[in-house]
Amino acid sequence: MVEVCLLGTGGGMPMPFRYLSATLINFKGRKVLIDCGEGTQVSMKMVGWGFKTVDVICITHIHGDHIVGLPGLLSTIGNSGRTNPLTIIGPEGITEVVNGLRVIAKFLPYDINIIENPEIVNFNVNKNGIYVNMEVLRNKQGKIVELDNKGHLVLNTLELEHSTNCLGYSFYFKRDRKFNVESALQNAVPKVLWSKLQKSDRVVFEEKEYTSDMVLGDERRGIKITLVTDSRPTSIISSFIKHSDLFICEGTYGDDADIEKAIKNKHMTFREAATVAKTGEVKELLLTHFSPAMAQPNEFIGNAKNEFCNTTLGEDRMIKTLCYTD
Ligand SMILES: [Zn+2]
Ligand SMILES: [Zn+2]
Repeated sequence: MVEVCLLGTGGGMPMPFRYLSATLINFKGRKVLIDCGEGTQVSMKMVGWGFKTVDVICITHIHGDHIVGLPGLLSTIGNSGRTNPLTIIGPEGITEVVNGLRVIAKFLPYDINIIENPEIVNFNVNKNGIYVNMEVLRNKQGKIVELDNKGHLVLNTLELEHSTNCLGYSFYFKRDRKFNVESALQNAVPKVLWSKLQKSDRVVFEEKEYTSDMVLGDERRGIKITLVTDSRPTSIISSFIKHSDLFICEGTYGDDADIEKAIKNKHMTFREAATVAKTGEVKELLLTHFSPAMAQPNEFIGNAKNEFCNTTLGEDRMIKTLCYTD
């Protein structure tokens, strides 16, 4: 199960009734935050999922409405008692910007690892955190060595079409494979290793290596969540978001008449976002990043639903719960 909370749904500037667009994902109690505009930590406080368990922060692009809240949040995370390293991912230039913002948040009780413009990142997830998978092998002959290299979460990025370098994100939360007794017996895996191989990809026992494939059944479908903001629609977005369980997309303008503004400012209308969702064959579209000039986005929801029926208008602190399906 994965929970997704829209911390805010606004673009441009925070409004009295609408925080800037940011998304918090909760997987096994650990958190991934996408974007951090001004006020994001206030909305996080209202949601009450805590600060200490934020392990990864993904920044879509370096526009103020997506990053200005970062130094304040990093300080708050520090005050929450976190000492484990935190990973920040973002487009080209993110390292320089984070280091610049950190002039006002210099002393933090945890390390920050910045990954600039990656195409793909694999993570391991356990109750203590979300860790970048380094595939480190630490075998010792004759002893059982458990390797913590089972990737539970795969992050992919896509270059979007905006007025600055901007990344779309795809998160694929893998589902654990079922234990298969017949397979374990067939592969003559000692019983003492059965439970260990459900947690580790490889175990060395009495100088022989055993892999999890020897005891596990087929791969099962996980949960795919994609997020695109800010961007014009492009054909490659449709393949990037293909079959997402949840597609969170910007809809800066609701009115079809604002198409010229959308083109000029490199954003999308509701109808354009819905068309992308339709060609991407996603299960559900969640619209966000509304223009400050649009007080009532629900006036325009019909424009999106005409193209893609299963469209939901994002609201601040709306939570979506996604479950594995067989
Ligand atoms: Zn924006
Ligand atoms: Zn922008």
